[in-house]
Amino acid sequence: IVSREVQPDNTVVHVRGLAIGGAAVQVIAGPCAVETAPQMQQAARLVREGGARLLRAGAFKPRTSPYSFQGLGVAGLDYLQEAARQQGLPVVSELMDIRLLDTFLEYDIDVIEIGARSMQNTDLLKEVGRINKPVILKRGLSATVSEWLMAAEYIAIGGNHNIIFCERGVRSFDPAARNTLDVTAIPLLKRETHLPVIVDPSHAGGKAWLVPALSCAALAAGADGLMLEVHPDPAQAWCDGEQALDGAAFGSLMAQLRPLAQVL
Ligand code: PEP
Ligand code: MN
Repeated sequence: IVSREVQPDNTVVHVRGLAIGGAAVQVIAGPCAVETAPQMQQAARLVREGGARLLRAGAFKPRTSPYSFQGLGVAGLDYLQEAARQQGLPVVSELMDIRLLDTFLEYDIDVIEIGARSMQNTDLLKEVGRINKPVILKRGLSATVSEWLMAAEYIAIGGNHNIIFCERGVRSFDPAARNTLDVTAIPLLKRETHLPVIVDPSHAGGKAWLVPALSCAALAAGADGLMLEVHPDPAQAWCDGEQALDGAAFGSLMAQLRPLAQVL
């Protein structure tokens, strides 16, 4: 279903009037995690003022250690939606557990993110295949392109074809960066599938200073959008502060991207 052999024309995924996979590059931005209502409100304002069109933040966090902050849970969805509505932005949030799908629908989460660690949770994929919300399918930590395409197929088979691939870096031998951004995967996917492909340079690089270069590389390679971690005060972030852009860095990155692509 996701193959270009089946459908030669690009699929454009629509999110409340925004087109992902069309002529414009869409930027999704926001903090790794929802922390507090004021943090979310500040973040949402920075995101809108910087020119991103969608707000991201996790209320359920797949942390490596069970002793790390796990996310606020349902209360986080509340803060996220409240901040998003104030700024008129659609929201993206990660779903990890099938049992919470109805809650995500009740909270009207516009785009459901399937995180890297869930890419091969086939039951979760089948469930999000039965709804009509767009799904961002992140690449598994060391998933091949063909495994990733098959994961999308699990979603599509249920009838939901609103799938957006998100390259977020893969495990490599080199610990210099958090992950290695697989730029090659962008044109490979664009050739194999008609679905949109976006890039998350924040989790790929793991350092805020790497994000601009990786963002430019992603757009040069043909990405349809970016998903960036932006926090009003990265040094105080509860999660992934090292890779978060502050408002100023986010604003200057957006200015750097505008000549490279139709960003707005
Ligand atoms: C995230 O987007 O916050 C996240 C946890 O990313 P990934 O699943 O790519 O690690
Ligand atoms: Mn994160």
